[in-house]
Amino acid sequence: MKYLGIDPIKPKIAVFDFTSCEGCELQLANKEDTLAGFLNAVEIVTFREISSAASDDYDIAFIEGAISRSDEITRLMDIRKKAKVLVALGSCACFGGVNRMKNAYDLNQANREVYGKIAKETLPVRSVKEIVPVDLEIHGCPVSKAEVERIVQHLVWDIPYTQPVYPVCFECKQRYATCSFDLGQLCLGPITRGGCGAPCPVGGLSCWGCRGPSEDPNYEEFFRIANEYGYGDDEIEERLNFFGGFEGVR
Ligand code: SF4
Ligand code: SF4
Ligand code: SF4
Repeated sequence: MKYLGIDPIKPKIAVFDFTSCEGCELQLANKEDTLAGFLNAVEIVTFREISSAASDDYDIAFIEGAISRSDEITRLMDIRKKAKVLVALGSCACFGGVNRMKNAYDLNQANREVYGKIAKETLPVRSVKEIVPVDLEIHGCPVSKAEVERIVQHLVWDIPYTQPVYPVCFECKQRYATCSFDLGQLCLGPITRGGCGAPCPVGGLSCWGCRGPSEDPNYEEFFRIANEYGYGDDEIEERLNFFGGFEGVR
């Protein structure tokens, strides 16, 4: 389909999965009301979850998942060499995600207990940017398809994309949700990057911080307020560690 008599350039897209649940990939494949338009804007050359086709010739590589084995490091470095733009897709890729919790354990002991004498290779979890340079990160567990589509539009038209810097509270208030703190729930919305539309607090379940920190969050004040509501530092830190995005904040 031409636009103003010009054939649009369709970037070749490849989607790869590493240590993950594949839920972010499913988000891309799932939203049927926009799927046709999405497929019309890009040329998908590799996407194991939806197609057996595979090609090494791609412009944009979407990487889902954290890195936790040596063969994953090799594969990721090879993809980085081939891709013009490399995008970390979802919290696992951006900061390790829920997988990062395993870094708190002795992996040799866990290996012995789970696999006995037939040990499996398992490295401490790392994000994609801890291994190779990343051009763009799309946060969320899972990612929002609407946000991915917005970003793909920017990539197709070569327009720089700016991530939201405001916290989840901003969108939560726009949607007139009752604050989770007032419902007796600890909520990470004040320090978590917005852009998701605050579906969790709006739906009655507080924010667990899947998108990682907002810009310049005030942790001291957040801990003070959460303490005032009766939540201890251990409970807050456990919540902060859930998706791996707040590692080392305190
Ligand atoms: S970010 Fe969440 S939904 Fe996406 S792959 Fe990781 S665990 Fe699955
Ligand atoms: S529910 Fe959470 S995100 Fe919404 S206003 Fe309260 S603290 Fe902020
Ligand atoms: S409200 Fe919080 S936990 Fe829910 S999607 Fe947004 S950032 Fe993630």
